[in-house]
Amino acid sequence: MIDADDTLWENNILFDRAIASFIEFLDHKTHTPTEVRGHLNRIEHERVKVHGYGLAAFRESLAICFEELAGIKATTEHRSEIDRFTAIIAGEEMLLLDGVRETLHHLHQRHRLLLVTKGADDEQRKKLRNSGLEQYFHDVEVLREKHTDAYCALHCRHACELDRTWMIGNSPKSDINPALAAGFNAIYIPHPNTWVLEEEEVHPPAEGPRLVTLERFSQLAQLF
Ligand SMILES: [Mg+2]
Repeated sequence: MIDADDTLWENNILFDRAIASFIEFLDHKTHTPTEVRGHLNRIEHERVKVHGYGLAAFRESLAICFEELAGIKATTEHRSEIDRFTAIIAGEEMLLLDGVRETLHHLHQRHRLLLVTKGADDEQRKKLRNSGLEQYFHDVEVLREKHTDAYCALHCRHACELDRTWMIGNSPKSDINPALAAGFNAIYIPHPNTWVLEEEEVHPPAEGPRLVTLERFSQLAQLF
């Protein structure tokens, strides 16, 4: 089971750029960029529980942040500028991380590969198509949230043996800790630009599932 965003391709960096443009556009007279960013993080943290992940949710969080900090209702002009920041993300070319294509080519000949991502279904599937990596996956799961119950459901749905199945990803919160808690093994490949909402301490299991940390995706070829 392999995560997509910031495991196979760059993702968070695009959002960071959009947020930087938003902060410039807001041009707040008293709040520093760090404070604006902190406020947006809090809005997103609350909203993902109800509205999930994806560009539409992100765009609305920016609009709410704008209204709360500017203290005015966003006009059509404000909205269209905010829309533009998110449209840039959607239009970006997929930037694969180092060695990903070659490594998937190697892995898919030897193993059953399942893409396990979260977010808006259409957006995640479109990214996969645009990445040119679709051919390497036997199946794709776009989940609303990647928590322990979701991994337990994958275990049943795909009839995969827990001790022979690995979850590979960059997020301790979504990929590593819940997969380990569900009984899967996990491979943690940290990405230096991981979304702040995905940050969490990795909880190595005392016994049972195995946890391996790698520096690069391409190192998977030596393990599998
Ligand atoms: Mg990820």
